[in-house]
Amino acid sequence: MHRKVLVLEDESSIRGFIVINLTRAGYEVIEAESGEEALDLLQQHTDVRVALLDIMLPGIDGFEVCRRIRATNTSIGIIMLTARSQEMDKVTGLMTGADDYVTKPFSPAELTARVDALFRRAGGTPLASEAAGEISQPPFLLNTRNRTLEKNGQRVKLTQVEYSIMKMFMENPGKALSREEILDTVWGRDYFGELKIVDVNIRRLRLKIEDNAQNPTYITTVWGYGYKWGF
Ligand code: CA
Repeated sequence: MHRKVLVLEDESSIRGFIVINLTRAGYEVIEAESGEEALDLLQQHTDVRVALLDIMLPGIDGFEVCRRIRATNTSIGIIMLTARSQEMDKVTGLMTGADDYVTKPFSPAELTARVDALFRRAGGTPLASEAAGEISQPPFLLNTRNRTLEKNGQRVKLTQVEYSIMKMFMENPGKALSREEILDTVWGRDYFGELKIVDVNIRRLRLKIEDNAQNPTYITTVWGYGYKWGF
């Protein structure tokens, strides 16, 4: 299995730090200094499974790179590299299709843990228990073999993380799931991240699957606790 990762970062010292640490962790790392270069490299290296995208760049910014990647590729894992002062950027980044973010400065352990977590997810290797099958809850149909979702017979394009959340919901209809539980199941127990990432991913998921995301009826909020798949 390829363990190929792309790093987009214009500051060479930070890029070097990331490359050294991911290489040490067993990844093959491809480097880009600009968004344009990153998009070119991704076309050449179609086996890249995780991309780390800096936001502030000369030329197109990291959000735009993320949007362009997602326009054609929902399976690659995307991590935004944000600065501590850019609280809003985290949300914006996730809403443009990123799966996760890491705040600079980060430790090698944190970086590697985040990439490992997404890599497992983007790997998409089905567990034996989900090797075959469908979960049908009209109007939704989840295919656990192809990891796809349909609503009213129409394919809904989901990222790997969104798919995992949907699967967890559809396997637990009517049950209130805590944000911690969702984080543990979808991102893994060794994940370093914040609970907020659950909320942002669910916000994005609602835009894709609800009839009206402002007034969600499928994924309902359980205040102060988490979410419920409303069947
Ligand atoms: Ca930068």
